[in-house]
Amino acid sequence: MTGIVVASANGRIGIEAAVEVLRVGGSAMDAVVAGTRLVEANPDDHTVGYSGLPNLLGEVELDASVMDGRGLRAGSVGALQGYQDAIDLARTVMDELPHVLIGGEGAARLARETGLQPKDLLTPEAEVIWRSRLGEEAADGSDDSSRRYLSSIREIVARTASDAELTVAGEPPHGTVNFLARDRHGDIAAAVSTSGWAWKYPGRMGDSPIIGAGNYADNRWGAAACTGRGEMAQRCCTAHSVVTFMRFGMSLKDALTTAMTDLAQLDDPYASEMNIVAIDKDGTPGAASTTEGKTFVMMTESMAAPEERPRMVVPLDGVSKSTLNRPRPSDSESNP
Ligand code: ASP
Repeated sequence: MTGIVVASANGRIGIEAAVEVLRVGGSAMDAVVAGTRLVEANPDDHTVGYSGLPNLLGEVELDASVMDGRGLRAGSVGALQGYQDAIDLARTVMDELPHVLIGGEGAARLARETGLQPKDLLTPEAEVIWRSRLGEEAADGSDDSSRRYLSSIREIVARTASDAELTVAGEPPHGTVNFLARDRHGDIAAAVSTSGWAWKYPGRMGDSPIIGAGNYADNRWGAAACTGRGEMAQRCCTAHSVVTFMRFGMSLKDALTTAMTDLAQLDDPYASEMNIVAIDKDGTPGAASTTEGKTFVMMTESMAAPEERPRMVVPLDGVSKSTLNRPRPSDSESNP
C-alpha cells in the first residue's frame, strides 16, 4: 500500500515534503503537519500563517486544527496571535492537553510554554492590502464597542463577501490550506491552517479550528477539509458530513456533491465560495468547489512530482432550494 497526500492548491509548496515523510515511513499525521508548516512559513501566501491578512484591528489571528483518523484524536487553536506555527500548536493541544480547542490568549500562552518562536506575523505587503480596504475609523481600536465599528465591519464584510469583489488588490479576502494524507499502514490524518477571513471581527474563528466543520478524519471512512466561508461549513458540519455520507454508502463524488448541496441551502447573505478536498478510506482523492477553474494537488509516494487536478464544480446558485427555505405564510394568509 503506497501513501498519498492531497492538498488545496496552495499546499503545492508543502506537498513534496509531506510525501517525503511518508516515504521514510512517517505517519499520515507527521506528513500533514510537515506540509502545512511550509505553507504557514510562505510569505507569499496571505491566507495562512506568516503574512496572513489581519483582522479588523490589523492583528493577524490564526486558526488551525489536526485530526488523527486513528482513534479520532484531534487538536486545534483559534485566534492565535504572535506565533506562526499554528499547526504545530494544534498538534500540541492534541498530544499534550486534555482538550481539543484552545483559543486566543490561552493559545498564545501555550505557544510560549512550549517554546515556539514568537513572530510579528503582519508583513508590509499584507498591511498594504489590509489598509486598501479599510476606513480609518474602523481601524481605530478605541472604537471597538461603538455602533460605528459594528457598521464598519458589516460594510467591510459585505464588500469582501460580494462575488463581484472576490479579490482585493489581487488577493482573495480569505483562504486556507488543507492537507489530507493516508500512510502505508492505512492511517488517515487531516490538517487545516488559516489566517481566516481578512477584516474579520477580532476573536472570530472560522471552520478551520472546528473539528467536524473544516476538518474531519476517520480511518474507517475517509477524511475531508474545507476552505471558503467558514461560517457556512460551521453551520453544515461540512467535513464531518462528507465522511458520514461515505460511511453510509455514498461514493466520494456523491458525498462531496451532497455536502455542497447542503451548503447551497443556507440562508446566508454573505454566502461565498466554498471548497472541499476529501479522500475515501482507500486514499482515493476528490475535491469540489462552488467556483469554476479551482484545482487541488495530490501526490503518491510513487510519483516524482505532484499533480494538479480540477475540482468538480457545484455552483451555490445551481442547486434547487429545499423546504429548508420554504417561505412562511404571509400575515394576510395566516390572519385573514
Ligand atoms: N475557511 C476560512 C475561514 O472561514 C477561510 C477560507 O478558507 O477562505 O476562516
